[in-house]
Amino acid sequence: MNEYNLLIETSCVAQKYWQSVPAPWRGELLRIFSNILRDRKFVLAEQIVKDSKKIISEGEGEVQEMIDVCDFAMGLSRQMYGLTMPSERPDHRIQEIWQPIGVVGVISAFNFPMAVWAWNHALAIVCGNSVVWKPSPKAVGCAIMCKQAWDAACDAANLPAHDLLLILNEDIAISNLLAKDKRIALLSATGSTEMGKSLAPQVAQRLGRGLYELGGNNSMIVSQSANLELAKRAIVFSAVGTCGQRCTTLRRLIVHSSIYDELLISIKSAYTKLVIGDPMDRSTLVGPLISFDSLEKMQDVLNICKANNYIVTGGTPIPTLGLGYVNPAIVEVTEQCQLVQEETFAPILYVMKYETLSEAIALQNGVTQGLSSCIFTDNIQEAEIFISAVGSDCGIANVNIGPSGAEIGGAFGGEKETGGGRESGSDAWKAYMRRMTVTVNYGKDLPLAQGVQFDI
Ligand code: NAD
Repeated sequence: MNEYNLLIETSCVAQKYWQSVPAPWRGELLRIFSNILRDRKFVLAEQIVKDSKKIISEGEGEVQEMIDVCDFAMGLSRQMYGLTMPSERPDHRIQEIWQPIGVVGVISAFNFPMAVWAWNHALAIVCGNSVVWKPSPKAVGCAIMCKQAWDAACDAANLPAHDLLLILNEDIAISNLLAKDKRIALLSATGSTEMGKSLAPQVAQRLGRGLYELGGNNSMIVSQSANLELAKRAIVFSAVGTCGQRCTTLRRLIVHSSIYDELLISIKSAYTKLVIGDPMDRSTLVGPLISFDSLEKMQDVLNICKANNYIVTGGTPIPTLGLGYVNPAIVEVTEQCQLVQEETFAPILYVMKYETLSEAIALQNGVTQGLSSCIFTDNIQEAEIFISAVGSDCGIANVNIGPSGAEIGGAFGGEKETGGGRESGSDAWKAYMRRMTVTVNYGKDLPLAQGVQFDI
């Protein structure tokens, strides 16, 4: 048996044992794990900074997100409720029971190298599944440290640690093996839309289950009634935080024409004050891009913008700080051209004007991605329209909060080419279980549904 097969078989065996452990005990393991995360918060955050290059405060925030989702899953361990329905037949009862699904494959991206795995892992584990994790090749150190923390939790609980196994292989052929493998009951894949489009047909071919968290192209509408000071703070954090490398990064700013100039001046002024530098330095707000490759892609896009006569502010590399350091860019566009419709994973903020709310919503919805969106307004009608059926078409729609920086309590994910998956809070756990509908007859007769007669 080759290495891959051995690993999946080991995970299958681990899952068979784990599914019969009572859910509250599974929750107890997550409690132990979350305490280990608390103890190791800084070293884990440091490793996140090393691998993903985000600033240390965001690294610590990411570890906190792992702690939060473990606590959430521990609470869930006593609350995985199934419904009971009235039966049309006398002396019958109908009930839903949620059962473990099996081995969950997790493929993760570089930019949330620990939290995305933790969202999946905590839910998968409390639901009675085992996990096989293929991390981003850019964040292997993070995966190893998470595995060490998990093993320590299993040791403390006297449990075997095989319910989490790692595949540390740079070859994307491994993702394809997971996608094609019938033993993977659920494949949860986070990354670019391109990656999702390559994996999803392979999962569908075997009628398997996929949970996709893919690229975003997130927007903010700023209306004429908005609190512009609040909007400015949200814009700058959402557009330049993590150096523009969050799936929820603000990429499109749609501003009412009457306040356009005032808002733009205030954002540009805030950009000049950004502290760009070493991500471990606590005064730094913007670290480098993940790679020189990302910097080159950003420069290519900005060159096309200039060739199109769009006004570009910033965007210049800062080689004196090191590879990948760059000034975040603002690009004033006159239309939502093809370039604006694409996700460039770098700090480029496209700014455009609108006159009516319906025009703004059409711009917001006029891209193939559907992850995160928001409106800044003090007008209750505008806010309600934005979150109504005719408003944003995204998985996340906020009012007077930027598109980035979600809490774990809500279900996280997006529509359209963002993949349709939901992870983390609310009832996202149901994706990690199989729903069993059970009808129990406690009578002495065998009536058929819909009054069908079949006497023998
Ligand atoms: P990526 O697509 O390059 O890689 C993600 C993972 O998929 C890695 O583990 C990688 O090895 C694997 N992979 C890459 N290409 C593949 C292919 N063709 N076939 C099979 N596997 C493949 O993404 P990245 O650069 O690591 O992360 C950035 C992207 O991830 C952005 O598009 C971002 O929006 C997205 N993202 C989405 C979410 C979300 O929740 N929606 C969260 C984080 C990141």
